[in-house]
Amino acid sequence: MADSLLLHIDGKDVPAADGGTFEVRNPADGGLLYEAAAATAADVDAAVAAARAAFDDQRWRGIRARDRARILNRAAALLAERIDDYARLETLQIGRPLREMRAQLKRLPEWLEYFAAVAQTSEGSVPDFGPGHLNVVRRVPLGVAGLITPWNHPLLITMKKVSAALAAGNSLVIKPSELGPAVPRHLAVLLEEAGVPAGVVNVVPGLGATAGRALSEHRGLAKLDVTGGTETGRVIAANAGRALIPVTAELGGKAPVIVFDDVDADRAVAGALFAAFIATGQTCVQGARLLVARDRYEAVVSALVARTRALRLGDPLDLGTQIGPLVSENQRNRVADAVSRAAAQGATVLCGGRAPDGPAYAQGWFYEPTVVADVTPDHDLWHEEVFGPVTTVTSFDSEAEAVSQANDSPYGLAASVWTRDVGRAIRVSERLDIGIVWVNDHHRIDPASPWGGAKDSGIGSENGLDSYRAYTRQQSVVINSADETFDWFASADELRYS
Ligand code: NDP
Repeated sequence: MADSLLLHIDGKDVPAADGGTFEVRNPADGGLLYEAAAATAADVDAAVAAARAAFDDQRWRGIRARDRARILNRAAALLAERIDDYARLETLQIGRPLREMRAQLKRLPEWLEYFAAVAQTSEGSVPDFGPGHLNVVRRVPLGVAGLITPWNHPLLITMKKVSAALAAGNSLVIKPSELGPAVPRHLAVLLEEAGVPAGVVNVVPGLGATAGRALSEHRGLAKLDVTGGTETGRVIAANAGRALIPVTAELGGKAPVIVFDDVDADRAVAGALFAAFIATGQTCVQGARLLVARDRYEAVVSALVARTRALRLGDPLDLGTQIGPLVSENQRNRVADAVSRAAAQGATVLCGGRAPDGPAYAQGWFYEPTVVADVTPDHDLWHEEVFGPVTTVTSFDSEAEAVSQANDSPYGLAASVWTRDVGRAIRVSERLDIGIVWVNDHHRIDPASPWGGAKDSGIGSENGLDSYRAYTRQQSVVINSADETFDWFASADELRYS
């Protein structure tokens, strides 16, 4: 691994204008991984200018879609060769178990391949404009897009945005999370190796309060696309609003996992465990609220607690590890605070609720997977996003009550419904005010399948055709096909028609 990470602007690796850096540390043992250049507002300016120059001279958007697609497919092949290195690097930076990082990153070439196909098959339209005119409506790229990404899936989330934006012909400035900026920067270099011209993809690692803020306030952008916490999303969306540019915002969540009484308890518990504790619970779609039909509640909760206690915490590079550390001291404090507040408000911690003992955990930000019962709507834990390995368990008496508990949240990103009754699965999903609903599954994602939430979970969506379209605007070209001259002011006779 490099011992320093630079900004990537106009195809070159450069230090920050003021020479500033920040440290990136391993959350499993606190060790220093590398120093990264901390972009200033001047660096963000330079990156936007480079991206704008690349857009204006058409070096990328001017390439035929089929040839752009060929380059993206080449990038997909290069990425497939580097998965193991990138997965290891992601694990070192964010602490997510290596076996999960490998499984996730192996899928990422599919995003480049999918959007390469979308770019090639995207078509305009020819609406009826009446005789004498031909109206051609085509989709054109927006310009320079600012992408602001979080730490929890550094490459996946960057890839979702980059593949759609690039396929559509835009130029980009990416501000990755300060906790995991290396792989998004490596992606920019990889894309250039595959044939994306220098200046099209620029990366400005740095702090949210400086680099992120400078990017989101920059008036040279044509779009802002952020994944992060809801409060960060509000600030960035307000900036986009002031600049009158579109914003896509993928924000927080508090996903319910709804288990009906017709489902096999072992299957439901395996699903709930997967929903709650993959990525050590640090995902926006984490199954944070397990809602169980009263008849099944005791069986499901006791099995869930037993299986949660048996999860293996440890060194995330060890392929046998199931639960890694949380990403930072702040994140662990936030999780511990949420659980102790819940206990103080009357909830019951059934397992976990503490940092594990022992020398293997002493230097890292570990926290035991936690199941909390007796949480009611007046408790903070019912509503707030913890973003860690904590799930609540609640019973319901009817389908209507399950739907009402599931919808009782400021968030509306994702849910899973566990039942063998197809009609019930359809009825419940129709009533959920939630963007992504899995039936008898959780966490599944595909580049073709829309990903986005309702309410405080964001605006717009990633993946799928709409996300490509959201990186374009329509240009309507109206062509006069008449042979004779139209001369409105030629004679007073024309006034007859006014
Ligand atoms: P943050 O909101 O803290 O940060 C997200 C990004 O925004 C980071 O790059 C951050 O920089 C930057 N940022 C922070 N403050 C500002 C600002 N004032 N102006 C501009 N940029 C800023 O989120 P986290 O990185 O902690 O990620 C966790 C959150 O992301 C959770 O709420 C989670 O639910 C959400 N998320 C949503 C997903 C979805 O698909 N809906 C998927 C994954 C996560 P820096 O890192 O330097 O602070």
